[in-house]
Order: sequence, then C-alpha cells, then structure tokens
Amino acid sequence: MRASSALGCCAIGLVACIGAAVAGGGFAATPAPERPAAQQTIDKRATTPLPPVRAPADLGDEAFAHVRALTGFGPRHSGTPGWSQQLDYIERHLRALGLEVRRDTWTDRKELLTFTNLSAVIPGRRPERIVLACHHDTKCMQGHADPAHNFHFVGANDGASAVALLLALAPVLQRAEREATLELVFFDGEESLDWAWNEGVRALFGSKRFVQRHRDALLLGQEARIEALILLDMVGRADLHIQEELYSTERLRQIVWSAAVACGHQRHFYQRAEAASDDHKPFLDVGIPAVDLIDLNGNPYWHTEQDTIEHMAPASLQITADVVLTMLPEVERVYVLAGR
Ligand SMILES: [Zn+2]
Repeated sequence: MRASSALGCCAIGLVACIGAAVAGGGFAATPAPERPAAQQTIDKRATTPLPPVRAPADLGDEAFAHVRALTGFGPRHSGTPGWSQQLDYIERHLRALGLEVRRDTWTDRKELLTFTNLSAVIPGRRPERIVLACHHDTKCMQGHADPAHNFHFVGANDGASAVALLLALAPVLQRAEREATLELVFFDGEESLDWAWNEGVRALFGSKRFVQRHRDALLLGQEARIEALILLDMVGRADLHIQEELYSTERLRQIVWSAAVACGHQRHFYQRAEAASDDHKPFLDVGIPAVDLIDLNGNPYWHTEQDTIEHMAPASLQITADVVLTMLPEVERVYVLAGR
C-alpha cells in the first residue's frame, strides 16, 4: 500500500507505508530529493520497563480549554488575524509561568511571507537540550485553484492540539527536577503552501529555520547541543491513534512504545505504522535523534472542515501527556546522561 491519494493533498506528506517501496512515490517525473528512508517497525515485544508518570488529572481539560480558545481565533496561518492572536496567546501563557519567550520572526524572501517561531527554555542542571515541539500554523485553505480546497479551517487537532498540550505541560515540566534543559518550540510554516505536499519544498519553514540557526549557534559555541527532539502533531482526536512514524529514530520509537505500555495506553499507540514528513525531518537530516507523535494514518478529519473541537477529547490530550511525561526521563537517560 502506498498513500498515493494522500500524496496529492497533504501538508504532512504520507510517503511510505510499512513494507512498501519508498522511492519517489507519485512524483515519478521528479528525481526524489535526498531524504532519510522509512525504517522497519520496532519489535513491540521488547519494551523497556519504565515507571509511569501521570499528568495532573485536570491537564487534559486544561489543554482542551486552550484548544477552544485557539480555534476561536479562526484560521491561523501567516498573515491572518488568528495567526497574530495565537502568537500573543502562546507568549502570554508562557510568560505568565515566568518563562522567557524568544520570538524569532523572519520573512521568507521567496514566498514573501512572514513567519514566527516561538520558544522557551526550561533550564535543567545541564545545558544539553531536549526539544519538545509542535507547529502552530494551520494549513491555508483559501486561494487554491480547486474550490474544493477552499473552506473555513480552524485546525483543532492539526495545529491547536499540540500547541495546547505544550502549554498545559509547561508548568508540569517546570516543577520536575531534571538534568537536561528542555526547550519548548512552536514552529511556524509547517504546512505546505501548495495544497499538495510537493516533497515539502514549500513547507517546514519554521523547523528548517530553527535547525539552521541551531547549527550556526553551535558552531559559534553559543548554544549547547540538542540531543533529541520530541515532536507532537495531532494529539487530541477523540479516537486517538498515534501511529508508529517510520522516519523517527528507532530508539525513540521504542521509548514511546515502552512509555505507552507503562501507562496502559498502548491501545492508542502504534497499532498502525507509516512514515510522515513533518517538522522532525530537518532535525533527522542533520543527525539529531527525533520522534514524531502523530495521529495521521486513518484520521478522517485531517485537512477537512471537520477538524473541529467536536472531534476532540480531553482524555486524548491526557493520554498523550502521560506518555510524554513517562518517556522524558528515559530520553534524558539515553541521550543526555549516557551520551549517544
Ligand atoms: Zn496539516
């Protein structure tokens, strides 16, 4: 099976299924650009016993309230009123926690669009960082040649859910003693400007920018290394299913699965496997271990007018939060304390 129909209409490009030949997919006329190949699925019988870490009982509700507020801003791609309102909302909530927020705004010279990444650091005892990230932009559903692609899109799951979850997790992460420094990052411009993914050429603007700036800063000795990325994308659907995303670093996929098992949430994880191009790709491209927690495969609301809060559930956000909190100490142990 190859997600050929999705290839024609995605912002997160489905590019390969397990057991499928990856190669150039539906773009035979174009030479496939260099990209990491999708990998084999993990052996799900081999789990690492991890102590479950439960999120506070009201975290899902809190995140859900953020989703409601964010979707109330309407579409949130560059240049919309909702885009500005959402940036202010994220910044305000992080600042209220006492976090310093970095706003990186730039104009893409080719697209003539202005993008903004937001980030905030939660210091640990060591400077080496684990990045927890999401994208805040929603896919632009206007101005497409095909009228069927133009509609009011609020991206409750595709965009708002992961933003909301990071905001709700931030105070919990602040309270925990940790060796590694954590950085919360909200990428702009994840979605493809074209309706189709088109190999991601006109997408992933924020994550590409972030990785480039990190590499520059690393060379100048201005930043400590990023040891791992945990990416969240679409984590609040009522019928939550986080697929095993096959570009993600194998060891990190094992940790996600082990955390899901430890929390008793395995029903919602890794029942299906498929590679998806997302904001973790620029990290993987430069050798930074990364994992994408994404509910794309089999998600009927993806990039439709039905991606609304009615199809979301606080319990799903709670489940994702449990797994993130449970996997974090192990990610820290494997990638920061033990080296790699
Ligand atoms: Zn999307």
